[in-house]
Amino acid sequence: MRIRLDRTLCDGFGICAKHAPDYFSLDDWGYASLIGDGTVPEKDRDAVMRALLDCPVHAIIYMGEHRPEDAQKDAAAIQEAPEPDPNTDDSEAISGFVR
Ligand code: SF4
Repeated sequence: MRIRLDRTLCDGFGICAKHAPDYFSLDDWGYASLIGDGTVPEKDRDAVMRALLDCPVHAIIYMGEHRPEDAQKDAAAIQEAPEPDPNTDDSEAISGFVR
């Protein structure tokens, strides 16, 4: 799975680092930083989910499951999608601009 830490929400309770010290470090004031890129292997999932659920300000955000093969397919699909023609009436609908 993947997680994200919103440091603007963190209130420095330190619970996350207690539950999952391999994924959260605390600064001198107790505010958390994410260790790594937020990818959590299955073996650490329970500890990180406990940190996520116990965070009193919900600063740890579940980003879904990490499936590298799906990510590669999605990236390929995005690259294959044609760019909209900026000189058509349809492009005005996409941008929300109306004359
Ligand atoms: S448990 Fe939440 S509020 Fe506490 S240090 Fe971790 S992220 Fe910050």
